Amino acid sequence: MEKYYQLLPIWLQNILVSLYGLTLKLSRKFKDSCKVEEIEFQNMTEYHEKKLEYALRKGAPRNERESIFEHYKNLPYTDKIIVRENLSSFQRNANNIIQRHTSGTTGAGLKFTTTKYAESIMWFFFERYRARFSLGKRDWCGYFCGRTVVPSKSSTPPFWRFNYFGKQVLYSNYHLSSGTVQFYIDSLNRYQPSWIHGYPSFLNLLVSLATEKKLALNYTPKHVTFGSESLSREVKSCVEVFFGCTSSELYCQTEGVAMISSCESGSLHVDEEFSYVEFKETEQQGVYEIVGTSFFNDSFQFVKYRTGDFVTLADTKCTCGRESRVVETIDGRKEDYIILENGSKVGRLDHIFKDMTNVTEAQIYQNNTGFIEFRIVKNTKYSLIDENKLKAEIISRLGKSLNFDIVYLKQIKRTKNGKLRFVIHEK
Ligand SMILES: [Zn+2]
Repeated sequence: MEKYYQLLPIWLQNILVSLYGLTLKLSRKFKDSCKVEEIEFQNMTEYHEKKLEYALRKGAPRNERESIFEHYKNLPYTDKIIVRENLSSFQRNANNIIQRHTSGTTGAGLKFTTTKYAESIMWFFFERYRARFSLGKRDWCGYFCGRTVVPSKSSTPPFWRFNYFGKQVLYSNYHLSSGTVQFYIDSLNRYQPSWIHGYPSFLNLLVSLATEKKLALNYTPKHVTFGSESLSREVKSCVEVFFGCTSSELYCQTEGVAMISSCESGSLHVDEEFSYVEFKETEQQGVYEIVGTSFFNDSFQFVKYRTGDFVTLADTKCTCGRESRVVETIDGRKEDYIILENGSKVGRLDHIFKDMTNVTEAQIYQNNTGFIEFRIVKNTKYSLIDENKLKAEIISRLGKSLNFDIVYLKQIKRTKNGKLRFVIHEK
């Protein structure tokens, strides 16, 4: 299918992209989908009690003297591997089923099902999040994610395609370089999408390249939303400066066991109505793993499911008035660490690049002997001073005995989904 798509003229590709967009749009609307109880401004104990009761109804029998929360506490944790090896104990009979799979950065993918109903509920929450920033059905979206809509062989613009039904201009991650960034900015200035959405790595590269070439926008979008990858403060602020507007993020996974989204006051709130979220303590003080139990997927019950994603928690309430829990930061995946000679794992490595303003992109690669390559894409201002600063930063955080090298690349290879993986371990 993809092979044929590549051979079609651009106008026909636009029609196909739009038709695909239409089917997606229709699949997100389902009867009853707007009947979600919204309790984010209220106490949610009763709601959680009711929903947990429903979610756990087919699992281990419950001691009558136990509350549903106590019962939950005694249940074992699950994760991708446990679920994959015991599929039948998580599957349920349901109508209107959709197949889903997670790619999994470690190669451990998971195939499961969801329902059209659960899917439409998920979209209800996405839309509620956007409405906080006045983004509605009328807003066109400049979409900077991993979809391969432009054939890789194509070397002339346009490096984008249109989804007319979904109101999206889909930009190609693959074609963005210092030689083509002008076309991307011209296109934004021409179509002026009021909403920008994308992977942090894609938008960061776009902004770095455009800034280096002194390109600017001739309009101001309403808002930028980020998704799919961890977002650092540095990337957030660079993108906000360039687009001249605020930005926010929404965290969710394909399994649909937890959703966390920004509010108008800039805090990250747990979408408490969406699922039952537990923050599980980890070895690292103050860092918690996101564990979730899904509420709406009747075809596949994820219970106490460990996502492998981490948060730090905020200890104050948000000024927006929501009662839902507030998260300080959503941290990288658990693969985002390196292993030192003494066996200790070090994460949060993005801090190494915090003040490295002349580094356009970075990736850390550790091979199976422990040797580490810091892969850097530099901008034109990058000099020996930056290299020495980077070396000093690496040594100060990871120790003098670290066996490493700095390697300069023209670009960093993306995953199949177009994502930039920050840390890679050779298997
Ligand atoms: Zn808030």
